Amino acid sequence: MLRQYELVERVKSYDPGADEDALNRAYVFSMKAHGTQKRASGDPYFSHPVEVAGILSDKKLDCDSIITGLLHDTVEDTVATMEDIHGLFGEDVARLVDGVTKLSQIETLSDRAKQAENFRKLLLAMSEDIRVLLVKQADRLHNMRTLEFIRNGEKRARIARETMDIYAPLAERIGIRDWKDELEDRAFAELNGDARASIVKRLQFLRENGGDLVGRVTSELTQTLAEYGVEADVSGREKSPYSIWRKMRRKNIGFEQLSDIMAFRVVVQEVQDCYQALGAIHGHYRVVPGRFKDYVSIPKPNDYRSLHTSVYGPENQRIEIQIRTHEMHEIAELGVAAHWQFKQNVMTDGRQYRWLRELLEILEHAEAPEEFLEHTKLEMFSDQVFCFSPKGDLMELPRGATPVDFAYAVHTEVGDSCVGAKVNGQEAPLRTELKNGDQIEILTSADQTPSPSWESFVVTGKARACIRRFVRSQTREQYNRLGQEIIEKAFRREGRKVAKKTLTSVLVKLSCRTVDDLFVAVGQGRYTGQDVFAAAYPRTGRKRQRAAPTGGDNKGSGEFAVPIRGLIPGMAVHLAACCHPLPGDQIVGIVSTGKGITVHTSDCETLSNFVEMPEQWVDVQWEVGAEDTGNHVSRITVILANRPGSLAAMTAVIGRYDGNISNLKITDRSEDFFEMQIDIEVTDVQHLTNIVAGLRADSAVGSVERSQS
Ligand code: MN
Repeated sequence: MLRQYELVERVKSYDPGADEDALNRAYVFSMKAHGTQKRASGDPYFSHPVEVAGILSDKKLDCDSIITGLLHDTVEDTVATMEDIHGLFGEDVARLVDGVTKLSQIETLSDRAKQAENFRKLLLAMSEDIRVLLVKQADRLHNMRTLEFIRNGEKRARIARETMDIYAPLAERIGIRDWKDELEDRAFAELNGDARASIVKRLQFLRENGGDLVGRVTSELTQTLAEYGVEADVSGREKSPYSIWRKMRRKNIGFEQLSDIMAFRVVVQEVQDCYQALGAIHGHYRVVPGRFKDYVSIPKPNDYRSLHTSVYGPENQRIEIQIRTHEMHEIAELGVAAHWQFKQNVMTDGRQYRWLRELLEILEHAEAPEEFLEHTKLEMFSDQVFCFSPKGDLMELPRGATPVDFAYAVHTEVGDSCVGAKVNGQEAPLRTELKNGDQIEILTSADQTPSPSWESFVVTGKARACIRRFVRSQTREQYNRLGQEIIEKAFRREGRKVAKKTLTSVLVKLSCRTVDDLFVAVGQGRYTGQDVFAAAYPRTGRKRQRAAPTGGDNKGSGEFAVPIRGLIPGMAVHLAACCHPLPGDQIVGIVSTGKGITVHTSDCETLSNFVEMPEQWVDVQWEVGAEDTGNHVSRITVILANRPGSLAAMTAVIGRYDGNISNLKITDRSEDFFEMQIDIEVTDVQHLTNIVAGLRADSAVGSVERSQS
């Protein structure tokens, strides 16, 4: 066990300004707090926090981290309280210890809760200060070093599995490669001791028979490169038993074929040297096919750059080689801070870890790195929140999520029938904002249906979509029933029965896709029952004379309770000059004082001027048969090639489709093209669409758009 003065000296060796007194007090406090507690190994419990502090000091972490290492189990496992820690060691240490304690608490959750990927994220999300995570990792590392002393085999296996699934990947992600390797290797030894033992034996055999193979290959590679005029730093290592095992499994290769157990790195000055080195190696050794990857020309999404190849190298050993410049190496190794001697490889993991690289870069160049450590919170996953179901399933939700979001994330049906929620066992309003680690129980009832008011507080797209879909389908269902009733009444009044065939035959005329759509259209008041009847029996139906859309005629004349907004009898109706609505267009009316109702196409840009004035908007619709009542002026913008005959070709097309040009204005003219505005008289929007399509098919025409102004 590391002694008090040894630990203090170690910290002072890299941080002369360390608070020696606080370190000493923490050492003694922890020793007294843990008292006579024992580890499974029979050692005094206190040896554990001291070793954790030692592991942290290997990484040259700041004084507060070391103190946190010493104190990390005192609140959880002894009578010491957060208040004690706060009083004796101040706010920062108290916050760190509290963070580590919280992480330890979520560790006791069921296995099911620890679905690896989400659990790792939860750990990260809860580690507001990167040092919390580092202390937790060091804690796990020491527990793995002493795993053998736990007698219960199941417990050992569970801890090893957890280490493999959660802590080793986490160590890799936060960039501590050697912790990752050790965690993985120790977990591997527990989970598959036989396999590991054979691999170690094999490696030993190779070493005994081959001597310092890594060293010999390294120097031969260096020499070979020098012969080709490439100056390079070559370094090599044996791969870890676990990574060899993983490769064996992945490639499904047997033990005898086990090769490829060494990896080498060639670091050069310039980018072109990379390719020169590659040329030298490929020229000198036999290449293993299919293994070359050029991440220099095409970097990985996380900016990782290197050339990767495999060759049968010196002594016919199959080896992996990475070639990169010093700069690429630094990026790959994340600007390994002088303060934090990480052998990290964070960059290979993902773009989301960029924050760590940035953090480390700040540390590297900072004058007072401790300050950055103190004030840098983990930003990661700060836009997410992780919650548990009563069964222990871990759900990842966006920050601000509520129990309703949670319910819909579990299942649409759960969301639709949700009546209430318990958060950590307490009933809570459905609009409660969830916090990391909350356990949510959703109360459901078969009678419940989604409330439109939920939409105001849910944050997930799924919840919002489900609520909207439900509300829409419910409203639609009501309109459907209403419309059906209205049509039946209208037909009965005319002495006819409603037949589905009859309704199907009017669908096109009333621009509805299905009979249900027609019911909804009538239910919403877009058509009256009389309109449907007139469409079905044109000769007997009342013929409407007016061409303009109806805005003021109260359809159904009170007989049917159809909700139509803005019915102002006798009000004048104009077609807007900006968008030139045509029968068949979706339209909307705007009421303005003294002018009556101006009808716009519903996509007219002018309407944006009226967004703030909902009281001026009126639902209007074209009268059935409006297209038979004469011509309407529409306006299109055409870009036409500036060459002889093109204008004639264009007018011929319009004529061929029975369009009548009532006005033509050239709005722009260049050497190649005319832009012109053409007013055409057409019967309805379909007529215009035909003309536009005909124009677009003509080679003289560059483009045709319906004018908005
Ligand atoms: Mn511990």
